[in-house]
Amino acid sequence: VFFNYAFRQDFISTFDAYGDAIKYRSVAPSAVSAKGGIGVIIRSLSTSLDDAPHTGTTRYADTVKKIPAIAIGNTTSELIAGAAGKGKIRATIIASCEMKDSVLSYNVIGELRGSEKPEEYVLVGGHLDSWDIAEGANDDGAGCVQSIEVIRTLKTLGIRPKRTVRAVMFMNEENGLRGGRAYADSAVAKGERHILAMESDAGGFTPRGIGTSNFSAKQLAKLKSWAPIFRRLNVYDLDGEGGGADIGPLQRTGTAMAGLEPDPQRYFEIHHARHDVFENVNHRELKIGAVVMATLVYLVSEHGL
Ligand SMILES: [Zn+2]
Repeated sequence: VFFNYAFRQDFISTFDAYGDAIKYRSVAPSAVSAKGGIGVIIRSLSTSLDDAPHTGTTRYADTVKKIPAIAIGNTTSELIAGAAGKGKIRATIIASCEMKDSVLSYNVIGELRGSEKPEEYVLVGGHLDSWDIAEGANDDGAGCVQSIEVIRTLKTLGIRPKRTVRAVMFMNEENGLRGGRAYADSAVAKGERHILAMESDAGGFTPRGIGTSNFSAKQLAKLKSWAPIFRRLNVYDLDGEGGGADIGPLQRTGTAMAGLEPDPQRYFEIHHARHDVFENVNHRELKIGAVVMATLVYLVSEHGL
């Protein structure tokens, strides 16, 4: 079965368009297999007008036979779709991917101990792992570098935060969120109180907003009282929903969640594809994102939330 489902243009945020289209990669192969299909080819979940395949998670239901499923570049996808209208198409799938056994790996954590309330944590994070067809420079090297930059900035400015600031490079976000789960389990076991967790995992692009979830009305009001500070960084949107996959498991501890929201228009050109490389990260845009994160972390570490 061939799916040529393109990102819907009526979603202004490409993340919404991705959320709409992802079913063709994530669950369609199971549905096709259940009906006796022998393979699935999809148009890549991408906005790029090129021929690079974009990979990502596919989940097979336990009840079905796992059939081959591949994503192809968008220009080839268009060609096939055009040809399919004129007659029968024959395709041969040659795939060499496989699931390997798990190996032990680790989250990487750095922190500045708080001077007044060290038992209260303000977390920033991104994830270390990436899909193996590229470096994962935007997904999520950018979030890791920005999180480290928050700590470096505070140190360079000689700021000893009142609350403990922790930068976490989570391991294994892409294949099951194991680092995020392990971190939350450890935080619960140790009784660590996280008052804010902020994630950057939407690319190193120009920041537009800070999305929130799990904020109380009082916490949201406090964030919005800092709006003039964020406006100076061209960050206007403090109304959106946000957070992140890796910090998600912490939500059960009552932690307020925030996500850096960069401009979403170019992320899905490179997401999970061979062009997600260092050269495609804009240094200045990346740094401004780090400044936004450092600003929020500083404000919360000084004033609480
Ligand atoms: Zn990511």
